[in-house]
Amino acid sequence: MKAHHPCNLCGGEEVSPLATRDRAGRALRTVLCNGCGLAWTDPLPNAAALHHYYSREYRADYKGVREPQPRHILRAGTVALERLARLRPLFTSRPPLLDVGAGGGEFVYLARRLTGCDVWGVEPNEGYGDWARRAYGAHVMVSALADAPLPVRHFRLVTLFHVLEHMPDPAATLARIAGLLAPGGHLVVEVPNAEAVCQSPWGMYHSAHLYHFNAATLEQAGLRAGLQPVSTRLSSDGGNLEVLFTTAGRVTQRSSWAIPGNAARVAAIRAAHRWPRHALTPHPYARALRKLTRCSHETLQLAASESPAALLDRLARARAPSLRLAFAA
Ligand SMILES: [Zn+2]
Repeated sequence: MKAHHPCNLCGGEEVSPLATRDRAGRALRTVLCNGCGLAWTDPLPNAAALHHYYSREYRADYKGVREPQPRHILRAGTVALERLARLRPLFTSRPPLLDVGAGGGEFVYLARRLTGCDVWGVEPNEGYGDWARRAYGAHVMVSALADAPLPVRHFRLVTLFHVLEHMPDPAATLARIAGLLAPGGHLVVEVPNAEAVCQSPWGMYHSAHLYHFNAATLEQAGLRAGLQPVSTRLSSDGGNLEVLFTTAGRVTQRSSWAIPGNAARVAAIRAAHRWPRHALTPHPYARALRKLTRCSHETLQLAASESPAALLDRLARARAPSLRLAFAA
C-alpha cells in the first residue's frame, strides 16, 4: 500500500501496516517502509499542530506537570550523569557543546559543572526551557531547533537524546545539525529502538513518537546527512539505541538509500513480540522491579528540601566517583 508521505529516509512510497493503535489503545496508524525499514505515524500531524503541542502541551501531557518536580530532576540528573560518563572521551578538548531538546536543563547544567565546557541547550517547551534558565542559569534557548539562532560550524559535540523520533522531518533535523558541527565534531543520537522487546507488546507506540528507527535506519539517516557512524550501542535491556556520528570522513553519495532486508527484519521482530509469549521472558518482571527500586531510592534521596542546583550537585558528588567523573566542589 501507499503511505500519505514518501519515506523520510529512502523516498519510497510503498509501505506495510505495522500497527493501528497507540499504547493507550487510541487509533494511531504506524507503517513500515518496504524500501528501508523506517517506520512512522501515517499520516504525520501537521507542522502548526506539532509546534503548539511541543511549545505548550508536551511536558504536561507526558509528565502531568508544567515544570520538573524534584523526582523528575533526580531521575533526569541520574540519566544525565550516566550519559556524561559514557561521553567522557569526547570532552578532552573542552568542546562547545549543544544539547538539543534540553528539557529541564539537567544535562546542560551537569555537563558544564563537571567538564567546564561551554554548554548550550535548545528546548521547545516554554515551561521547561524557562525553568532551566531560572533554576540553573543554564544557557538554554526556548525555541524549536529549526528557528534557534545558532552559530554554524561551531559545536564540537551535539547531543540529541530522545528527540529525533519526535521530529516531523528527521532528515532536515540531521542536516541542520551537521551544519552546526565544527569539522571533526561529533553527534550523539539516542532514540527508542524499533526492535525493542523489553516493553509490553501493547506499549510500543505513542502519538508523540513520529518515527521508529533501528540501528540500520539511524546509521543510514546520519550518512544521508553527511555524518559517519563511529559506534552503535543498545541499552542493557535493548530498549534504547545510541549512535555516535562524526563529520570527519568522506560524504557518502548513493543512488538509493534503500536497505535491503531491513523491513522484513523489523516486521518479523514486531510480529513475534506478542502476549502471552512476552510473559515468559524476564522483561516484564525486571521492569517492574526496576521501577519499584527506583521509587524507593528516590523517596530516600528526596528527604531533604533543597534547590534544584543543590540537588544535582549532591547527586553528582555521590555518583561521580563510581562513574569516574571529576566533581570539583
Ligand atoms: Zn524508506
